[in-house]
Parts: sequence; structure tokens; C-alpha cells
Amino acid sequence: MGAAMFGSTAFAPHAAANPSTGRARGREVAIFGGGMAGLSAAHELIERGYSVTVYEPSYLGGKARSMPVVGTGKGGRQDLPGEHGFRFFPGCYQHVPNTMSRIPVGDSNVKAAHLVSADALTLGLYGADYRPVIMPASRIGIKKTADTTLQLKNIQNAFIDMFASMKNIPMTEQTYAALRMTVMATSCQERRIGQWDNVSWMNYIKAYQMSADYRTYLATSFTSSLVAAKAQTASARTIGQTALALAYAGSGPLVPQYANGLLQGIDRLLNRPTNEAWIDPWVRYLTSRGVRFVMNTGLSGLRVSGRRITETQVTTSSGATSSVVADWYMTAMPVDRLKPLLTPDVLRAAPGLAGVRQLVDDWMVGIQYYLRKRAGTPTSHIALLGAPWSLTAIFQAEPWGQDIGRTYGDGEVQEILSVDISNWDVPGVLYGKTAKQCTAEEISREVWEQLRRGLNRGGYRLINDDELVRWHLDPGVTWRNGKAFNATPLLVNTAGSYPHRPTAETEISNLFIGGDHVRSNIDLATMEGANESGRRVANAILDRTDSNAERAAIYPLWEPELMDPLKDLDRDRWRQGLPHILDV
Ligand SMILES: Cc1cc2nc3c(=O)[nH]c(=O)nc-3n(C[C@H](O)[C@H](O)[C@H](O)COP(=O)(O)OP(=O)(O)OC[C@H]3O[C@@H](n4cnc5c(N)ncnc54)[C@H](O)[C@@H]3O)c2cc1C
Repeated sequence: MGAAMFGSTAFAPHAAANPSTGRARGREVAIFGGGMAGLSAAHELIERGYSVTVYEPSYLGGKARSMPVVGTGKGGRQDLPGEHGFRFFPGCYQHVPNTMSRIPVGDSNVKAAHLVSADALTLGLYGADYRPVIMPASRIGIKKTADTTLQLKNIQNAFIDMFASMKNIPMTEQTYAALRMTVMATSCQERRIGQWDNVSWMNYIKAYQMSADYRTYLATSFTSSLVAAKAQTASARTIGQTALALAYAGSGPLVPQYANGLLQGIDRLLNRPTNEAWIDPWVRYLTSRGVRFVMNTGLSGLRVSGRRITETQVTTSSGATSSVVADWYMTAMPVDRLKPLLTPDVLRAAPGLAGVRQLVDDWMVGIQYYLRKRAGTPTSHIALLGAPWSLTAIFQAEPWGQDIGRTYGDGEVQEILSVDISNWDVPGVLYGKTAKQCTAEEISREVWEQLRRGLNRGGYRLINDDELVRWHLDPGVTWRNGKAFNATPLLVNTAGSYPHRPTAETEISNLFIGGDHVRSNIDLATMEGANESGRRVANAILDRTDSNAERAAIYPLWEPELMDPLKDLDRDRWRQGLPHILDV
């Protein structure tokens, strides 16, 4: 044990307390990071008899956690619930629902008890003069145009149907955007990675040549409603593939792989705050199975010899350092925290990790508004396309099915409007400042104003000043000397980033990488990608230990078989250096 090598021994973490067996096939795993990736790997490994310790400096659940608004609960009620950002579980997610189905709550499980389908999707067009369009879940996707069999034209028509609600975009442009989706659907993997991943979404749908509304709604807003991505830099492959996956997910029985019992549909969500519904029962379950959680402790150094990690350094929140020795090490921390650990020594042993330094993150942050009147709208995420700060939102009371006033706060709050702000670099409409230049108070007023202007249209009145009781911005955003900092930026899948993304296995034989930045089937910085990465790490450790345990399931995204001949044709053209046959 090499604690002295790194300094203080004031803190004795668990894995070190059970030193490595020294065997090449030992079963001691140290996981650094207790977010989605770390918890998923811990889940798979503990169920297969490994000894697992998770080191977490801040909060279990990471970016997927919820947080109480401390001190707001009165009269026996709980504190008002805040979220790092509201949670959206598209119908194409498979890993996350599978994990949820294996977390017990009472005599049920998280998936059965807490994951529910959305009724609709609400599209507000900022700047348009008509009311937001509430699209029932039953009308989204391909099923409207293809009841039993799927044809190529159905895909194009499904997108034209979606775009039809964006009345300001000329029909010819809507049709062109739909054609680009068909191109993506029929492109071979080689072209998707070799060509489309290097093109920005903006260029892919030729937004520069189209109308201003096409640029605003189909390029800029579409990417930032999904993640913190900007259309000018986001990978066309990532955004296009995700749009296809969402359309397929909304296609009900046509895609049994996504149907998942009664929960088919484009959008699913939790019927409680995320921690209450999912993270807390998960941590309880993992603890009951033997996972050890060492809190307030993060990875601060990796010591390499040859192609092996010989020791790791951890640092506690009070600054004390000590070492952890295990058989296998997994980093499950965000990419901005991983970068400084990739020292020249580490990169010499694992040159494949060099690209991590090229990966980019951006800001996406949650703010909640607590209201004294229930909205009474259907369970539906709201995308306010075209809002300067790229806002998406949801009213929580309906999906939670709770009397919020009776459960949380001081009884006054009956509704929670949870909003994600995805663009922090564009001036707002009230102060002419970007979100990064505003104070927290100014941000709360600005977002409220953008929601009011964008959603209260055509006689519709969703946002009412006299209903606002208070607001809560993610405390991870802080200000020092007038400059804003975000403790939890989110990876963005920029054009050309795929080759830089790490795989779960590295050239260092006992080091594995998890997190939403790891290459995954969904290829988008999400809980689903992070969960898949945790499973890939677990499987790699099973391989390295010659385990005969069943491997953790890894699910591909569904793509229709009827595309295969077209993809084969495209593969031939790709090999000959020719463009996609529909790429005009
Ligand atoms: C506002 C917002 C809304 C979102 N909404 C959705 C959504 O609706 N659906 C969806 O699928 N995804 C959503 N995402 C993305 C999703 O939350 C993340 O992609 C996912 O949670 C990432 O999981 P992770 O385990 O890779 O990383 P994280 O969640 O960041 O977890 C990493 C953990 O590592 C810890 N850590 C940091 N440094 C160290 C260290 N040195 N040593 C050890 N541990 C360390 C951190 O404290 C953290 O707990 C959203 C993200 C944001 C920001």
C-alpha cells in the first residue's frame, strides 16, 4: 500500500482497507464517480460477485440528481424539490429502463412504479403569432403513415408531419429537411462516422441557404432542445441519428424493441423527483448488495508503471490525500474532471486517450419556478423553439400526480415549472446580456420573460406573473468577481469528435473509462449513454477476469431492416468515394 507516496494518510478509503489480492484476476474494483455511469457499473459488477467501492466527491446521481430547496419545508412537509435539470427518457432508451426494472421499491421496481409515458409534446415557437402546438403522443412518429408495414416514404412523411406545425417554414424547405433525414436513415455506418460526423448539423441541413425560420427552428433550436449543443458545431451524425431514434421510438408497435410493455411512445418521465423515484432506491439497493460508497472523496492522481495503474490518489473535501489500491479502476467522472488526470505518463501508456483533451463541453442548467396554481396541462415536455436562451420545460404536478402543497414547502406552492436553459452565450430580451453575464436574479427574470413571450400566444396563457411564488437555480452555478462558473458542464457531441471519444477499455490493462463522453450506441451525452458505458466497463472487467458470468446487456439503437439494402448500396458508393445517392 503506497499511501505515503501521495502524502497524508488521514483518510482510509475502503478499497485500500481491503488491499489488492495482487492476483491478475482479483475482483476488487474502485469506481471514481457516483453518477449514472459509476452507479451502472457498480450495479452490474456487484450482482456478479465483485467487490465494489464508489468514490464520490459531491453527490450520488451526478448530473441526474435532484436537490431539495433547503429550509422550505414547513409543517411536516418536505423541502420543495429542485432538479439539476428535468428528466426526459425518450422511448429509444433501453439501458436505463432495464436498470430501473432491477431496482426494487417495495414489492415493485423503479420502472414499474415510477416511469410513466408522456401524453403529448408541446411545441412553442418563440416569435410566432400562434399558440403553442400540443401534439398528442399518438400522432408523433411513423405510425400515422404506416400502420403495419414501414416504407422509406413513411420516414420522410413522419418528419414532414412533425415540421408541419412550424407553419412559417416554407413547404419546400420542410420537405428538404425531411429528405435529409431519409439520407441519414439510409447512410451506412462508415459514411455516418466518416462523413456526417465531421459535418455540423447546420451545414448538413443546409440551413445557411434557407429562410430565417428554417435556421431558427430546425437548425438552432432543434439541437439545443436536445442537449446543450449548438447547430453550428454539433455533429450531424449525432443529431440526425437521435432525431431518427426519436421518430422510431414514437412509432409504437412498429418497433417492438422500443414498445416496452405499455410504455411505448416518444417520451417517458418519472412520476416523482428523480432522487425520490430512482437515485435513492438505487443507492439503497446497491448498498444492500454490498457496494461501499466513500463520499466527499475524489480521484486526484493516477500512478502508472508499464501498462498498469499501480496506485491511485484520492483527495477528500478537506484536502487530505491518500491512496487507493484495487485490482481494477474505473473513471466515471465528467470529461472536464478527467482531462487533468491524463498526465504525460498516463498518455504514454494509453495513447488512445489523447483525444479526450479535444472534447468540448458547454452549459445546460436547470431552474425551477414554484407556482401557487396548478397548470392543468397534459403531461408533456415543452420545447420553446427559437427562444434566445433555448428553453425547454415541463409542469411537474400532473406527471407527479401529487398534491404538491400537501407534500412539499409551506403549503402555498401547487405547481413546479422546471426549465432547462441551454444557451448561455446569447443576449436575452430584458437586459441585453447573456445568461453568463447576468446575476441569478436577472436569470430568473429573463427566463420567465422569455417563457411568457413564447408561450402566452394566440389567446393561450400559460405563464402568469401573479402565480409565481419563488424560483431556484442550480447552485452549481456560482459567481466570483462578476464572472459565472458552472460546476457541472455537459459534454457536447461536436462535429469531428467521434474519433476523440474514449472507449470503455484503454491500453492500460486495469483502467477503464465510463461516462457520457464514452463511445456508445446512442452517441449523445445522456443518462442512457452513461449507463451503457458503465455496462461496457463491467463487461470489460468480466472479460479480463475470465468470468463466466453473463455479460451485461448492451442494446443497439433500432433501425428498420428495410434500410439494409439501401445502406449496402451506400457502403459501395462510400468505398468508391461517391456521395450518398440522395445527397443533392
Ligand atoms: C440540465 C441538464 C438536463 C439533462 N437532462 C437530461 C435528460 O432529460 N435525459 C438524459 O438522458 N440526460 C439528460 N442530461 C444529461 C445527463 O444528465 C448526463 O449525460 C448524465 O447524467 C451523465 O452521467 P455521468 O455518470 O457520465 O456523469 P455525471 O452525472 O457528471 O457523474 C459523474 C460523477 O463524478 C463525480 N466526480 C467529479 N470529479 C470526480 C473525481 N475527481 N473523482 C471521483 N468522482 C468525481 C461527480 O461529482 C459526479 O457525481 C441532462 C444534463 C443536464 C446538465
